[in-house]
Amino acid sequence: MRSLSQVDTVGVVGAGTMGNGIAQVAATAGYDVVMRDIEESFVEDGFDSIDSSLGRLAEKEALPDGESPETIRERIAGTTALEDLADADLVIEAAVEDMDIKRDIFADLDELVDDDVVLGTNTSTLSITTIAAATNRPAQVVGLHFMNPVPIMEGVEVVTGEHTDSEVTAFAHEFAEALGKETWESDDKPGFVTNRVLMPWINEGIRAYDEGVASKGDLDKGMKLGTNVPMGPLELADHIGLDICLDASQTLHEELGDRYKPAYLLKRKVDAGKLGKKTGEGFYEYD
Ligand code: NAD
Repeated sequence: MRSLSQVDTVGVVGAGTMGNGIAQVAATAGYDVVMRDIEESFVEDGFDSIDSSLGRLAEKEALPDGESPETIRERIAGTTALEDLADADLVIEAAVEDMDIKRDIFADLDELVDDDVVLGTNTSTLSITTIAAATNRPAQVVGLHFMNPVPIMEGVEVVTGEHTDSEVTAFAHEFAEALGKETWESDDKPGFVTNRVLMPWINEGIRAYDEGVASKGDLDKGMKLGTNVPMGPLELADHIGLDICLDASQTLHEELGDRYKPAYLLKRKVDAGKLGKKTGEGFYEYD
C-alpha cells in the first residue's frame, strides 16, 4: 500500500459541493490535485467555488503562511477525463449519492490507478463494503466522510468497510490530519455516526413544521437557542441540499426501517426542484 509520505497527487472525483471543497483543502495542504467531473461546466463551477472560498479565507488571513489563493489554485487541475487520474497516489470519490454510479466509478478507478493506491469515498450513507466490492482491492477502500463546508468544518469521519485493512484505516486518519482535520471512526453501518443521528433530527424538524407545530423561523430558532446548535433543522437541510437529505433518508429507511422514513414534505420539495441554497429555494429563499 502507498504510504502517506508517498502521496503527492490526490485525485478527486466530482467537483460539486464536496468535491471542490476536498480539492481545495488538499491543495491548501500542499498536494497536487486532479479534480474530475462529467461536464466542463461542472468543473468550472467547482473552480468558481474554490476561488470564492480561497478569497474569503485570504481576507481573514486564514491561509497557511506563504500561500495565496493563486499558489493554492495552481496546484489544482480540472478535467472531464477520468484517465487524467491515472497517476494519482490517492483518490477520493465525491460524486452523487447513487450506489450504481459509485460502483461504476470504483470499478473504473480500480482498472486505472496503480494497485497500491487507496480509494476513498465521501459517501454520506452508502455501504463502503458494497462500493468496495466493485473493485479488486476491497482492503484498500475506505470511507473519508468530509463535512460541509469542507474548508471550514474540522471533522472527518473515517469509515471502515468489512474488508478495509487496518493500515488503510490508519492512513485515512493520517491523511485527514495532514489536511488539518480531526477524525473519528465509524463502522460501515447505515449513516455511520453522523447521518444516522442527524437525518431523523432533520426529518422530525420538517414533519413538525409541516404539521404546524411552529413557523419555520420559530422552529429553527427554537432548536438553535434551545439546544445550542448553530443551525436549525430546516436551515441545515437547505445547507446540505434537500436531494442529498432525501437520498440519505431513503437509504436509512431501507436499511433501518420506519423510524427513518423521510418526511412527506421533504419529498415534495425535491420533486418541485426546491433543493435548498444550491437552487435558490428550499424551506427558505436565497439570493
Ligand atoms: P453535488 O451534487 O454538489 O456534486 C456531485 C457532483 O458529482 C456533481 O457535480 C456531478 O456532476 C458529479 N458527478 C456525477 N457523476 C459523476 C461521475 N461519474 N464522475 C465524476 N463526477 C460525477 O453533491 P455533493 O453534495 O458534493 O455530494 C457528493 C457526495 O458527498 C455524495 O456522496 C454525498 O452524499 C456526500 N456528502 C455530501 C455532504 C453535503 O452536505 N452535501 C456532506 C458529506 C458528504
